[in-house]
Amino acid sequence: MIYLDSAATTAVRREVLEAMWPYLTGDFGNPSSTHSLGERAADALAAARASVAADFGARPSEIVFTSGGTEADNLALKGIALARPKGRHLITTPIEHEAVLESCDYLRRQHGFTVSMLGVGLDGLVDPDELTALLTPGTTLVSVMYANNEIGTIQPIADLAERAHAASTVLHTDAVQAAGWLPLDVSVLGVDALTVSGHKLGAPKGIGALYVRGRVPLEPVLHGGGQERGARSGTENVAGAVGLATALRLAETSRAAEAARVTVLRDEFIAAVQREVPDALLTGHPEHRLPGLASFCFTGTSGEAVLLELERQGIVCSSGSACAAGSDEPSHVLVAVGYEPEVAQTAARFTMGPAITADELREAAAAVKSAVLAVQGIAR
Ligand code: PLP
Repeated sequence: MIYLDSAATTAVRREVLEAMWPYLTGDFGNPSSTHSLGERAADALAAARASVAADFGARPSEIVFTSGGTEADNLALKGIALARPKGRHLITTPIEHEAVLESCDYLRRQHGFTVSMLGVGLDGLVDPDELTALLTPGTTLVSVMYANNEIGTIQPIADLAERAHAASTVLHTDAVQAAGWLPLDVSVLGVDALTVSGHKLGAPKGIGALYVRGRVPLEPVLHGGGQERGARSGTENVAGAVGLATALRLAETSRAAEAARVTVLRDEFIAAVQREVPDALLTGHPEHRLPGLASFCFTGTSGEAVLLELERQGIVCSSGSACAAGSDEPSHVLVAVGYEPEVAQTAARFTMGPAITADELREAAAAVKSAVLAVQGIAR
């Protein structure tokens, strides 16, 4: 099998599992317990927090461990908006993950916020000047994802953060897909909050983290025992936090080299697919795109049918985001950037992990050709 669905999830890395193992077995204590088992767990959690903070150029007290990207996005949006509602105005984009879009919608329905959407062109990029135009003295929070999970477009986050700050507001970025590929230094990015998720980069599902700049007030979403300095109650997932810290550190160590290597392979794959299937439409921005993501609309097909045909040939990919897959709705991202719903239904997304090889991608490109032709009924 050739796995081209790394944006959906990844396998746990051996080094990550080895780092986690002690905290799932012998050192299984609850970090809140005062006995030695508890202290060892608390020490491991503190070390994981310090490691993640170092990778973000942040302070340990600015890291909140969560159950994943969805929870971190919910905490960022609801937590920041409800702590300091100001003019009850949010700005986001229509191509965010549902975790952001639905949190905005909840704040609109239940707490009287208005939500402004930044426009996006076919390439998925937002225009920083439009952000400046939408910002008001009452803007509570801006949330723009670092890189999109379906089309891979990378947003000009530092510029957007500067504009948000000029209007005395704060900016959150969902960096779930960017982590492992793009720099995460929060000072360079200028962001006030940033979401990551473990399972996209070799840690298990069910662990994530939210960075929140120290001076930004945060209202908890989960109430209970007051763990995570009151920001997120619930017994901490110590092994998960250790796994996330290990995965982030590993990714960070080889990030620049892997990103450069995979970008070359991805571009060869894009060129091969476009050669084999001349009417394939590459989605997203031609340059500002994640190293490991190539997504196409294969007009005259159905994305799901192409996927099934590819799987028959041993290639595993996805029709869009994993969350949208299996639903009859066309991808909200592709529709928002301007594809007709019928065209959006023909999308197939190929996402590579750092271990991808040129041979695998050559094989995949050949399989794409025969899958598309088979679905179009031109050949079998
Ligand atoms: N944000 C983006 C951009 C994602 O791609 C995903 C997962 O696909 C999430 C958030 C949600 O993360 P999790 O699966 O950890 O809840």
